[in-house]
Amino acid sequence: MIPVCEPLIGDNVLPLVQDCVVTGWVSSAGKYIAEFERKWAEYCGVKYGVAVSNGSVALELAIEALHLEPGSEIILPSFTIIACARAVVRMGHKPVLVDCDPVTWCMDLDETERKITPKTRAIMPVHMYGHPVDMRRLMEIAKKHDLRVVEDVCEAHGAEIGGRRMGSYGDINCFSFYANKVITTGEGGMITTDNKEYADRVRSLRNQCFLPEQRFLHRELGYNYRLTNVQAAMGVAQTDRIGQHIEIKRWMAAEYTKRLAGLNQLTLITEASWAKSVFWMYCVVLDESVPFDAKEFAARLKAKGVDTRPMFLGMHEQPAFHKLGLFVGESYPVSERLARRGLYLPSGLTLTIEQIDQVCEAVRETLR
Ligand SMILES: *Cc1c(COP(=O)(O)O)cnc(C)c1O
Repeated sequence: MIPVCEPLIGDNVLPLVQDCVVTGWVSSAGKYIAEFERKWAEYCGVKYGVAVSNGSVALELAIEALHLEPGSEIILPSFTIIACARAVVRMGHKPVLVDCDPVTWCMDLDETERKITPKTRAIMPVHMYGHPVDMRRLMEIAKKHDLRVVEDVCEAHGAEIGGRRMGSYGDINCFSFYANKVITTGEGGMITTDNKEYADRVRSLRNQCFLPEQRFLHRELGYNYRLTNVQAAMGVAQTDRIGQHIEIKRWMAAEYTKRLAGLNQLTLITEASWAKSVFWMYCVVLDESVPFDAKEFAARLKAKGVDTRPMFLGMHEQPAFHKLGLFVGESYPVSERLARRGLYLPSGLTLTIEQIDQVCEAVRETLR
């Protein structure tokens, strides 16, 4: 079976991880946390990085750092992972959904503008499958309506618009370093920001809101959302190799596209002329002319030794939110089509050209 996604753990990881183990610095104290935060902030082109346990809690802490009044509306795409809308709900706010663009699969910015109300306080753009949301336009909208912006960059480490990286446009931005992301620390996350107040607040929240002047006095309730030094050591090493990881992803995408472009039954992942995508996962969408859906497509590919994953199912189709009275009766046609007709092909960082050949042959046979 060709696996759907395998990480690339370079030979520079083990010496740093070994250093943590040998010296006993295995918890969230230790020098690699600060080094990882500094390196990652510098890579993104922002002042501050604050490492946390994973991308999901990064989203929660980012929203909490904004200090919005309870019940504020936050606009985000329906087509994303549940962590986004769940973070909005858990922080006591109201998620307002928009559909996605049929070409980039990122949130539709015309609809975003239309959904702004007097209660809207923030927008959460999600850079889908490595492709940036048009942040230049989104920041204009945010500025015009005095809204904060929380970028979800969990799938788009290193993606750019006009030479500027994602994770540097928004007010406070969130990364995941889960094993299938562009770089990994196993589990892990980071927020990036230029705002010292936001950075300090996330730093405090992630570590029980201990007060520097009196350790066991608490003025606020925090969490334990710390990253370990071992994970951070891996993050330092992975950050040093991110250029190579992105080159592999872009090479993979180009090779897939070369082989599959002739098939008119498929729409392939693309890159807008104004964007540099990192092609986190290579997605394909079945045309309406194909007599089966993505679930059946996946089963047929699996029978040929090719593992795949479906694209996201929109938030407006989630029973967990319907139970809370959210998104009932709402419809987002592009998201619905992608959920039923889309999947991603093997996209791991260790994929070989022979495997890409095999995958494309299996796809061609299945669609014949
Ligand atoms: C992976 C991912 C997350 C969650 O990150 P975890 O580290 O797994 O909690 C959030 N948003 C998006 C878009 C993701 O792809």
